[in-house]
Amino acid sequence: MNPALPATVTAEPALSPADANPAANLSFDQLPLAPATLANLQQLGYRQMTPIQAASLPLALAGRDLIAQAKTGSGKTAAFALTLLAKLNPRRFAVQALVLCPTRELADQVAQEIRRLARGADNIKVLTLCGGSTMRPQMSSLEHGAHVVVGTPGRIMDHLQRASLDLAALNTLVLDEADRMLDMGFFDDIVVVAKACPKERQTLLFSATYPEGIASLSRQFLRQPQQITLLEQHEAGKIRQRFYEVAPDQRLAAVALLLKHYRPVSTLAFCNTRQQCRDLLQVLRAEGFVALALHGELEQRERDQVLVQFANRSCSVLVATDVAARGLDIEQLEAVINVDVTPDTEVHVHRIGRTGRVDQAGWAFSLVSGNQMARVDNIEKQLGHEIEWHSLSELQAAPGKPLLPPMVTLLILGGRKEKIRPGDVLGALTGEAGFSKEQIGKINVTETSTYVAVARGIAKEALRKLSAGTVKGKKVKVHLLSDKAG
Ligand code: ADP
Ligand code: MG
Repeated sequence: MNPALPATVTAEPALSPADANPAANLSFDQLPLAPATLANLQQLGYRQMTPIQAASLPLALAGRDLIAQAKTGSGKTAAFALTLLAKLNPRRFAVQALVLCPTRELADQVAQEIRRLARGADNIKVLTLCGGSTMRPQMSSLEHGAHVVVGTPGRIMDHLQRASLDLAALNTLVLDEADRMLDMGFFDDIVVVAKACPKERQTLLFSATYPEGIASLSRQFLRQPQQITLLEQHEAGKIRQRFYEVAPDQRLAAVALLLKHYRPVSTLAFCNTRQQCRDLLQVLRAEGFVALALHGELEQRERDQVLVQFANRSCSVLVATDVAARGLDIEQLEAVINVDVTPDTEVHVHRIGRTGRVDQAGWAFSLVSGNQMARVDNIEKQLGHEIEWHSLSELQAAPGKPLLPPMVTLLILGGRKEKIRPGDVLGALTGEAGFSKEQIGKINVTETSTYVAVARGIAKEALRKLSAGTVKGKKVKVHLLSDKAG
């Protein structure tokens, strides 16, 4: 093999870790990781490596540069996080690793995952630096020292220009979702940032696709990279696809009908345009569903609120365009609905790949009008087998109660700035207030707000008790986040 050329390590299509070939050793134990890290992985429930982790971690931990391609949800974050954490010296208060991400949400998700994976080690400080927040607080956080910085290219470049970010001690540079960063026009910013990093370093590039810009980046900034490609293919059986032919004027009502028939707890509905998002949202709300939309016009704060409510299961349907939803990691997603089947087969595969993750089966429904049949032919070719057509007339609203999300979100005014941690909120609800742990869902603490998911049945009481009591010894203001179905 010519070491100057990237070698291709093409692994088999992703299987869930549990189903994978038992002969392949997928245990984390074989990796050169600290015992505390291995113990933490156990605690997090990471029993086996995912295929992309198994293909990339041995090489990355050995110090190789990588170009890794695998679908969303395949566990790429841990692949680079474990690598950069393994090299980190906690006693050295300098930025030793930098992760570039396309958007603030992705940066937040990555930072969270790195913090979770770092729990086994000494106190490791992970800082996010993204646009949309003021520079000052970021600069003072940097002065206090951070081991790992996760951020968007533009903002990282700003800090470099003001000399508030020093990369002299850096030994790992990660480009996460590189194709998306290029789509967003970050090529030049990435070049500036990469040039500001020490030459002697490891560079890891992650991407779902491989456009020309990636090759150009890797030629300039990666050293004899290994290329790892996990074929974009979903496991047969885990995602159950059904196609429905619809007349154009039936399309939005058909979405409501699918929801009533299959009653998925969480559904991501893809629209091709923003106008269609708005129309669908209106139809669904009129039918009593708790639905939210994700689109470009939202302010950052509103966007965060939408994502938190969907991820914590207090919103049944998230209506989104491909651009708005790209890269989002939603753990539990029972169904994806293609309100309009997309003309791009690769996009179709990406969309439905959001469901049927880790250990659960998922539904993927596509609504197709007569003039969209050619799109389905392409999908069929890609799948390599015939698709399943079903008729809308098979669908019936399941009898009984309307479909409501199991949880409701409470918003506490106060967050990290007020030193609130998830444990404080859980303590307040399960202590004095007397609720059980099972009645409390996800708790997300942001800089200025805290979102708590509680079981629908106790929402009003939890709101009352939290307002009357204290969190961390202080009174707090609490609101019920709007719940259109009441
Ligand atoms: P990607 O970046 O490839 O889209 P993520 O890194 O966001 O995927 O991982 C998707 C989900 O899988 C996350 O919720 C993560 O915590 C989980 N995960 C990652 N690795 C493992 C593992 N080895 N075992 C179980 N869950 C994992
Ligand atoms: Mg990712």
